[in-house]
Amino acid sequence: MDAELKTAATDLASLVRQSSRALAFTGAGLSTECGIPDFRSPGGLWTKNKPIPFEAFVSSRAARTEAWRRKFVMDESFKAAVPGRGHRALAAMVRAGRLAGIVTQNIDNLHQVSGVPDDRLVELHGNGTYATCLDCARRYELTWVKAAFDAGGGAAPDCTACGGPVKAATISFGQAMPEDKMRLALDWSVEADLFIAIGTSLVVHPAAGLPVAAKRSGARLVIINREATPLDEIADLVISADIGTLLDQLMEHLAIAGVH
Ligand SMILES: [Zn+2]
Repeated sequence: MDAELKTAATDLASLVRQSSRALAFTGAGLSTECGIPDFRSPGGLWTKNKPIPFEAFVSSRAARTEAWRRKFVMDESFKAAVPGRGHRALAAMVRAGRLAGIVTQNIDNLHQVSGVPDDRLVELHGNGTYATCLDCARRYELTWVKAAFDAGGGAAPDCTACGGPVKAATISFGQAMPEDKMRLALDWSVEADLFIAIGTSLVVHPAAGLPVAAKRSGARLVIINREATPLDEIADLVISADIGTLLDQLMEHLAIAGVH
């Protein structure tokens, strides 16, 4: 095995052992090995298809219809995705009491599928595996939306209870971050004594402020990402290894079983 990776896994294991309240903060890089595209990366979906801003979605059925049309296409790759080694390792760490919680920027539901309980997880950007009415918050499954879309001759459906717009339960461009979730993520960050950022470029605000808040409150900061991030210089440990391989190694160091 790669000597650099081995050293990184040893150093990370040591920090995890010293911590009593570790928090993981995950981004797109965690899910790339699961076939989930990184929308923001060069060549990613967002560089080909300009995102539909929240305001347009709310005010125009044509925009809603276009958003749903794209969503159904995109879901072909989402549906096949299963948790990767990184997800399984983090879920095992939560079970073993080594990780107090996970804050994620991902919308792919893979932390839940890997077994992380809802009360240990904060989804800052929502969840793409179901939809909600923007007016009354009623939940709709995507299978219902697709059937209603087709039944309407290819048009975005409205809420059957209140007539409001039905939208994937994700946070769009121009849509406010959910305040309660942001608050909880900040509380967890401030309470953490070890903050591990995994597969996130740490450039999207306000989420990128979380590691800074943790660090200011005395936490050690670990950044695991393929590319350099703006916060590398304040981190205690920066690792640019393959995430799945690294976290597999970490599990061996911590002697946590049941990952596979
Ligand atoms: Zn409604």
